[in-house]
Amino acid sequence: MDQSKQEKEYGYELFPERNTGPKNEKSFVKSLFTSQFKCEIMLKLAMQTSPYAKLLLSAMNSSGCKVIRDRHFACEDCDGSVSGGFDVASSQIVLCQNNIHQQSHMNRVVTHELIHAFDHCRAHVDWFNNLRHLACSEIRAANLSGDCSFSSEVSRFNFGMKQHHQECVRGRALRSILAVRKISAEKAQKIVDEVFDSCSNDHAPFGRIPHGSKDAEFAYRDHESRDRYNTNL
Ligand SMILES: [Zn+2]
Repeated sequence: MDQSKQEKEYGYELFPERNTGPKNEKSFVKSLFTSQFKCEIMLKLAMQTSPYAKLLLSAMNSSGCKVIRDRHFACEDCDGSVSGGFDVASSQIVLCQNNIHQQSHMNRVVTHELIHAFDHCRAHVDWFNNLRHLACSEIRAANLSGDCSFSSEVSRFNFGMKQHHQECVRGRALRSILAVRKISAEKAQKIVDEVFDSCSNDHAPFGRIPHGSKDAEFAYRDHESRDRYNTNL
């Protein structure tokens, strides 16, 4: 496949700063005021304070995939309204500095992309050739990251809590797949339906669906004490 076609079909056109060679060095003073600097500060805070991110980082560490901030994260400008992505080729999480303006949004994007990185670490995910693998990771990311815990009261009222959450996860997974693969909505829907039950019941490394920071904090402490116990054996 030629490169431009490949870029299109794998969603790389959403991340124009990928594969563009060396970046212009900005002066330090100038960099203090850029959106990149702000993005990096918010990323640091997410990694240090979000219990979701802390749990995923710790779980990846115990699985032999240590995440290093400067190596595995990149703040960049992205096209459209995308917030982030996981670049399999470089094992890097891209954070869209032009679209993330609030800490709570940063925390959710970091968590969502770390779930993809966690799946990449623990399972041999075939992101490009197996759409079921991609669908499964998108379902898990939407289900566990809190992406669906902050949605509108109206749909919550319409469906009830649990059904609302599931519908939200389905919808988000579907949109994520369609953003990066040129396939029909029908085909994407069919794949999401096929893997939905098994993938939405896979709560690793959280243990159960965290419905807020308190749940995530509990899961984090649980993981840490189990980890400590295992290393003492
Ligand atoms: Zn995703």
